[in-house]
Amino acid sequence: MAVTRTFSIIKPDATRRNLTGAITKMLEEAGLRVVASKRIQMTKEQAEGFYAVHAERPFFGDLVSFMISGPVVVQVLEGEDAVKANRDVMGATNPADAAEGTIRKTFAESIEANSAHGSDSDENAAIEIAYFFKPEEIVG
Ligand code: ADP
Ligand code: MG
Repeated sequence: MAVTRTFSIIKPDATRRNLTGAITKMLEEAGLRVVASKRIQMTKEQAEGFYAVHAERPFFGDLVSFMISGPVVVQVLEGEDAVKANRDVMGATNPADAAEGTIRKTFAESIEANSAHGSDSDENAAIEIAYFFKPEEIVG
């Protein structure tokens, strides 16, 4: 295994409930290191672009509205096999299916308002990191 990077978002349902620290702690305890972080208000265009792969899905409009309903915290995470480590601690998309002890099982409100995003591959991680961060904003 190698040390790699992934991209994470603490979603509006979580920032609204002041869970930024609690979620970051779970990421850190899973062996991930925050090497870049910023709290932003996404624009509609930014959210549509980020989730463009889901543009044809029936939930796309609602998802974009949710993602711009409040601030988010975008982060770059570094660690051994970071994509998998992050997906494992995040848990299944639907909190009803998420394992005990995962972020989504612990905090998610619904399949949509599920508290966290994590990249699903190294390739997408690189694309998603570049979507929100300049190289000089990432300090490992
Ligand atoms: P994940 O975030 O686990 O990678 P997806 O990439 O499939 O899941 O979906 C992206 C996001 O879209 C989810 O995290 C969730 O916020 C939302 N979403 C996914 N499926 C649904 C659904 N059936 N209804 C409403 N929102 C959904
Ligand atoms: Mg996904």
